[in-house]
Amino acid sequence: MTRALNYLADKLRSLSFGRRDTLVCSDCFADRGLALEARKLGQISKRKCRHCNSEMGAKLDRAALDDVAENFFVRGSFVRTEFGGATVLRFGAWRQDSHREVRFPTWLDTDARLIENSLGIGFRYYGPPTWRLGEVEPLESLMHILA
Ligand SMILES: [Zn+2]
Repeated sequence: MTRALNYLADKLRSLSFGRRDTLVCSDCFADRGLALEARKLGQISKRKCRHCNSEMGAKLDRAALDDVAENFFVRGSFVRTEFGGATVLRFGAWRQDSHREVRFPTWLDTDARLIENSLGIGFRYYGPPTWRLGEVEPLESLMHILA
C-alpha cells in the first residue's frame, strides 16, 4: 500500500518535471539495453544531466527511473516454468545496515549501483510462493491421473 502511494506521489510530482527533479539520464548507463529503456521512459530535453553532463540523454526523474528499474531488472528477471513463472529480483528501500544482496556482472554493476544510489534502493533476491511456479495440488493430482 505504501509503495503504491509513493508511486502515485512520484507520478504526480513528475507532472511538474524540472531540472532539480532529474536524477540521471539515458546516457549515464553503459548497458545498451538499459540505456534504450531509459531513453524510452525519460524526457528529451537539452538540459545538462547533473550526473554525466550529457545534453542529449533523456532525463529521468524519480518515477521514470523507478519504472526503468522495474522494467529492466525486475521484469527482466522473470523465469518461466512449465506451469507458471515469477521474477527472481525485487527492489526496496535501502536500509542503513543492509549490504548489497545482488551482485551483478561487472559490465552491469556500475549501472545497477547508479540506480540503487539515485533511488536509495537495493536490489534483492525474491523467493516466490511455489504456486506461482506451478506447484498446485489440483494440478499435481491431474498430472498423476494423466501419467
Ligand atoms: Zn546522464
